[in-house]
Amino acid sequence: MNIVVAGNSFAGFTAAIELKQLVGSDHEVIVIGKSPNFVFVPSLIWYPFGLRKEEDIMFDVRPPLFQRDIKFFEAEIVRFDPENKQVWLHDEYFPYDYLVIATGFEPDYESIPGSGPGKYSHCICNLDCAREAKKAWSDYLTHGGPLVVAAAQGTAYFASAYEFLFNAQYQLAKAGMISNSPITFITSEPFLGHLGIGGIANIQEIGERLFKKYNFKWITDASIKEVLPEKIILEDNREILSRYTMIIPRFSGSNPVKNSPGLGNEHGFIETNDEYRHHDFPEIYAAGLAVDVEPPEETEVKYNIPRTSYPSEMMAKTAAWNIYADIFGLEKRSLSFSDINAYSILAIGNQGLMIIGDHMLSPSGLEMIIPGPQAHWAKVAHEKYYMLSRRMGIV
Ligand SMILES: Cc1cc2nc3c(=O)[nH]c(=O)nc-3n(C[C@H](O)[C@H](O)[C@H](O)COP(=O)(O)OP(=O)(O)OC[C@H]3O[C@@H](n4cnc5c(N)ncnc54)[C@H](O)[C@@H]3O)c2cc1C
Repeated sequence: MNIVVAGNSFAGFTAAIELKQLVGSDHEVIVIGKSPNFVFVPSLIWYPFGLRKEEDIMFDVRPPLFQRDIKFFEAEIVRFDPENKQVWLHDEYFPYDYLVIATGFEPDYESIPGSGPGKYSHCICNLDCAREAKKAWSDYLTHGGPLVVAAAQGTAYFASAYEFLFNAQYQLAKAGMISNSPITFITSEPFLGHLGIGGIANIQEIGERLFKKYNFKWITDASIKEVLPEKIILEDNREILSRYTMIIPRFSGSNPVKNSPGLGNEHGFIETNDEYRHHDFPEIYAAGLAVDVEPPEETEVKYNIPRTSYPSEMMAKTAAWNIYADIFGLEKRSLSFSDINAYSILAIGNQGLMIIGDHMLSPSGLEMIIPGPQAHWAKVAHEKYYMLSRRMGIV
C-alpha cells in the first residue's frame, strides 16, 4: 500500500513514524510538507523577546524519517482529489491508497482589517510572523506605551495569548518600562481562563487574581472590528489605544483543503468520526488542527477549539492505528476528542501554571492547576525533551 501523509508538524510527523512502525517495510509511507523544518510552535511565545534562537526550536525532519525508510518530499500541496486518490502539487500528483491530512490551519488576517504582519498588529502563529513580531518588539521597547494582547474571535489558541501577555509584562518590568506601558487583554472568551475548553478547575479565579495583581485591564466576549496604526476598534465601537498589538488571529483550514470541494467544511476543516476517518472518503484520515471539532456550547462570540500538540498527536496515533487495522483486518480504535487528556503549561514570566485534566471537553473528572516556578521549569524541560526525542524520531 502507498500511504501519503500531508504535513510534517505535530500531527503529520507523529502519524508518519507511528504508521511506519505499524505497517512495516511492505508498505510505503511518504510525507509531503512545505518545508522540512519542524518548528516547535509552543516556544514562539518566547521568540519575540529574544529568549529563543531559531535553532533551539527547529529541527529537520528528514534524518529521523529517512532512518525509518519514510520518504519526504518538500513541496506545496495545492489540492487533494479524493475521487481519484491523488495529492496535487502545482503540476504533478502523488497517488495514494491511504491519506492522512495533517496540514493544520491558516491564520485568517483578512477577517479583521488592519491586522496581521506588515499591517498594524503582530502574531506568533508561525516563525515568519514571529520574526516580524520580534523586530517590532525591540522597536517598541525603546519607548514603551500602551500594549494590547488579544485572542480574536474564531481563534483557537487562547493559552498562547495569555502566555505572550504575561511574558510581555515580565519583559517590560525587567526593562523598567512597565509604569508607562498600560496593558489591556482583549478576548473572545466568555470569561478569563475559558481557553476554548470551557475553563478548568479554578482557573478563572486564578486568572482574575493575576490580572488584578499585574494591573491588566481586560475585556471578555470581545470581537475586534478593525486595527488602526495606534488603536484597536471593537465591534461595539470601543477604542483601545495601543503602541504594540499582538493578536492571535481567527483560524481557518489549510489552503489545500479549502481548494478541494467536498473534502472540508465551510471553514476548511475536515469532519471525521472518532476514528479520525473522513465521513465520505474511507481511505482519508485527518489529525491535528485540520480536524473539525465543534464547540460544545454556544457563546456570544464564536471561538475555535484548541487542538493543541498532545491531542493532535493522539489523533495522529489513532488515525495511524486505524489505517494499519484497515490493511491488516484488525479491530479499529476510537478516541473522542472530548475524552483526550488536557495537559498544558502556561508560562508566566519566570512562573507558570500546570494544567492537568483527564478530558478536553467532557464534564469534569480530574482537574488540577499547579501554579509556581516549577511549572515554568516543566515547560522548559518539556521543550528540551520534545526537541531531543523528535530529532531521534521517538513519538
Ligand atoms: C503561539 C502558539 C503557542 C502554542 N503553545 C502550545 C502549547 O504550549 N502547548 C500545546 O500543546 N500546543 C500549543 N500550541 C498549539 C500547537 O502548536 C498546535 O497544536 C500544533 O501546531 C498543531 O499541529 P498540526 O500538526 O495539526 O498543525 P500545524 O502545526 O499547523 O502543521 C501543519 C503542517 O502542514 C504543513 N502544510 C500546511 N499547508 C501545506 C501545504 N499546502 N503543502 C504542504 N504542507 C503544508 C505545514 O508546513 C506543517 O508541517 C500553540 C500554538 C501557537 C500558535
